[in-house]
Amino acid sequence: MSSASNAAFRLLPAIDEALRTAAIQPWIERSGRAAVRDALQAVVDGWRDDIRAGALGAADLEECLAQGGLESALASRLAADEASGVRPAINATGVVLHTGLGRAPIHPEVAERMRAVAEGYCVLEIETSTGERGRRDAELASLCRKLLGCEEAIAVNNNAGAAFLMVHGFAAGKETIVSRGELVEIGGSFRVPKILEAANSRLVEVGTTNRTRIADYEAGIGDDTGLLMKVHTSNFKVVGFTEEVPMSELAELGARRGVPTAFDLGSGRVEFEGAAPLDGVGGETLVRQAVESGLDVVGFSGDKLLGGPQAGILVGKKEAVLRLRRSPLYRALRCDKVTLAGLEATLRLLLAGRGDEIPARRMLLATPEEMRARAEALASLLAGVPSFQAELIDGESEPGSGSAPGVYLPTCVVRLQHERLSPDQLATSLRACEPPVFTRIAGGAVLLDPRGLLPGDEERLAAACASLADAG
Ligand SMILES: *Cc1c(COP(=O)(O)O)cnc(C)c1O
Repeated sequence: MSSASNAAFRLLPAIDEALRTAAIQPWIERSGRAAVRDALQAVVDGWRDDIRAGALGAADLEECLAQGGLESALASRLAADEASGVRPAINATGVVLHTGLGRAPIHPEVAERMRAVAEGYCVLEIETSTGERGRRDAELASLCRKLLGCEEAIAVNNNAGAAFLMVHGFAAGKETIVSRGELVEIGGSFRVPKILEAANSRLVEVGTTNRTRIADYEAGIGDDTGLLMKVHTSNFKVVGFTEEVPMSELAELGARRGVPTAFDLGSGRVEFEGAAPLDGVGGETLVRQAVESGLDVVGFSGDKLLGGPQAGILVGKKEAVLRLRRSPLYRALRCDKVTLAGLEATLRLLLAGRGDEIPARRMLLATPEEMRARAEALASLLAGVPSFQAELIDGESEPGSGSAPGVYLPTCVVRLQHERLSPDQLATSLRACEPPVFTRIAGGAVLLDPRGLLPGDEERLAAACASLADAG
């Protein structure tokens, strides 16, 4: 070690001493001693590394410290620490229901209802007329009856929970019959055979990967059969010489043989008068169609095509749904008050004929012309930012979350280039902004798809770019 770097090392502040100085006290009051200690340690460690690397000398460090460098480094470190965790982000990826980015952004009125019940007490499991105990999902069931034509409805934490509950509720200790073409992995470690295993149900595979007939299910039924199950293959599609059993035939078989039938529908497309249908999104089975086919229980996500908060909704025949509701697992999986309030508010928007206002629906339905206009507006905001070059090109967005496999939505994207940063460096730098900006890279450039941008995001995105004008 040179004597110059020794001099620099000696200037590094001692943490305990720094914690006692007057300048640091306001930070301790604001963020707590432990957080400030950790942040100071990180700042000093960083400087030590710089000295070791020959990037920071004694004179520079002395000047930095004299000018309040420790406090300002502490401030930005604490700000970075506090900005970590679950927080708002900008989705410029073009994937509308992006699981990594929290899937469906909810309607402001829905968010307001969720905030209101979260902040205070609420009517959850109590009757206002009598003050007696009530049913937490009574209103949800009532809304689902009107919207989906079902007899009953309950909601749990997510659709994986809904699938688990239906297998466990009908077939724990028994067999579940599933088509070989539907033994899929949905992503995020949701594998149908594993769900059955966890629910203590034995898998009976019938048919083949590409073709399964009703006779295959019937031949699979035995004394131990607890459930006939269909699974939406989500992010996977079998094409060509294929045959899958229609929902109504499975429902009829189950009714005839006295075996419950269930469909893990996943994406959960719901249509109602007053809103444009999601026809461009792959002709997904409607929840109502699945219900009307006569299946006992249909499960779908609250935060995929429905565009509400994360949940798994189970709808169908009264007896079957209530049987699942009586299961001890329902108690473990059910939704909290905030989610229930959000689901109700989302369903009410649809019933009120305001489905077009639901953000995820609006994003999925945006026309190529709308997308071009939005990309033009974004590009003109970015045009004035030094070091950047923005041009428009045609592109494709995706519904995401396996909600519509193989479907691409024509869009227009901003192809963004930085004078000194490579596409990878630019994408990384944008993710390091606050709020973080998520993009995709294709054809050797960062692409910004306006489809998933929410009001105000364009300006935030432009500000993020402006903060990178001098980078590189
Ligand atoms: C998405 C999906 C799941 C998992 O649902 P989560 O809401 O993510 O828990 C399960 N099954 C199918 C068919 C799906 O599409």
